[in-house]
Amino acid sequence: MASAFDLTGRVALVTGGNGGIGLGIARGLAKAGATVAVAGRNAEKNAEALADLKALGGAADALQVDVADETACRAMVADVNARFGRLDVLVNNAGVARRTRPETMSLEIWNGILATNLTAVLVACQAAHPLMKAGGGGKIINIGSMYSIFGAPYVSAYAVSKGGVVQLTKSLAAAWAADNIQVNVILPGWIDTDMTRPARTGSAEFSDAVVARTPAGRWGVIDDFEGPAVFLASPASDFVTGAVLAVDGGYSITG
Ligand code: NDP
Repeated sequence: MASAFDLTGRVALVTGGNGGIGLGIARGLAKAGATVAVAGRNAEKNAEALADLKALGGAADALQVDVADETACRAMVADVNARFGRLDVLVNNAGVARRTRPETMSLEIWNGILATNLTAVLVACQAAHPLMKAGGGGKIINIGSMYSIFGAPYVSAYAVSKGGVVQLTKSLAAAWAADNIQVNVILPGWIDTDMTRPARTGSAEFSDAVVARTPAGRWGVIDDFEGPAVFLASPASDFVTGAVLAVDGGYSITG
């Protein structure tokens, strides 16, 4: 009997899968047997990620897409289905952050962050829903943040977007459970990626404070997302929906 974590024959799409946490997730899904397509704006990063995934042995693809563009985002989902004939797993991981205080933030920045981090999640899920339903079910994994839970002076738009991702996840989970589509959200703690590298390397004090507050005693790395993603993408999680899974080394349980 196949392992409950086996993804052989499944097709997965990971937005923002050309680097950082998304690439960690894409690698995990590929190692579990899935065909994986990644999507991002940067063609060079896409090409590198594609080579990385192909080296794992399975079929893979990389699409140049700005998920904040509604038409392009819907086309991305349709393209993966056209290329591989099905879509079983959608990981909404693409995200951007800007440090801006609320009193001076322009609506351009606010709308830009919401468009990529929140609205694109709805759009991609809408595009995936009929495909997954027709295929007998599916798995959607959204990526939130510690700022889905906490606030901070410089992150209001980002925190709103990531709080919204949690509520969207729960709503979609309730709406689509009858279609055998499970929708869950991962909340990463502090992870060493391009997004956090300036903060991590710019201030030893900040970096040390993250380590001190994290019970696991370290920053997260992208490999930490392989297992959680495979669990939420596989039959092992068929009775898990609307769940909020912190992958944070315990950061969110400390005060
Ligand atoms: P990275 O900056 O390393 O990766 C972000 C990814 O998103 C890149 O692949 C980027 O590709 C893609 N992306 C950004 N905007 C768009 C867009 N408009 N269209 C398509 N792709 C886009 O950051 P992380 O890996 O750290 O972040 C991944 C996710 O995890 C994000 O949602 C982030 O908010 C979340 N997160 C990260 C944490 C951390 O500590 N690192 C903590 C909590 C949450 P490209 O530039 O080619 O478009």
